[in-house]
Amino acid sequence: MSGPQKRKRPGGGPGASQHSASGTASQSTAWPAATLLPRLERVRELGPGRWIARCPAHDDRSPSLSVRETDDATILVHCWAGCPSADVVAALGLELSDLFPPRRDDRAPLRPRERWVPRDVLAAVAGEALVVAIAADDLAAGRRLADADRERLRTASLRLRAAAREVGVDG
Ligand SMILES: [Zn+2]
Repeated sequence: MSGPQKRKRPGGGPGASQHSASGTASQSTAWPAATLLPRLERVRELGPGRWIARCPAHDDRSPSLSVRETDDATILVHCWAGCPSADVVAALGLELSDLFPPRRDDRAPLRPRERWVPRDVLAAVAGEALVVAIAADDLAAGRRLADADRERLRTASLRLRAAAREVGVDG
């Protein structure tokens, strides 16, 4: 187990103040997490270099954006509801290049099961299981599912399967 030296708790949470009002942060790439985290809402640290936050690219009621800092200080972001990472950083006024430290060595890219901690993925997608449970209760009570509810169930299933694939589960 190893990790970068620099560790700082993000000053996250509702109403967390922005670092800069200028909107451009391309210069402050010394530590990408310091650029990204203050811009996110409802940031919660799950462990060293691992956070969960509200996704800025969609109407995210339960935080479903995973953020991870790799050993070379690159930041990985993933919206478990399916927003492309480029959209996520664009919604924050950043670019994908802001997620990389100024100098990158030639490490091999992380394989899927190395990118995310399954426990963190579950924290992000737990709300989808709740959707399924509520629908099951409705059915058990003899209620009929509306088309919109059935569509939402389908979305929950897709998100859960996408999350499984992201951590290296095949099929
Ligand atoms: Zn999203």
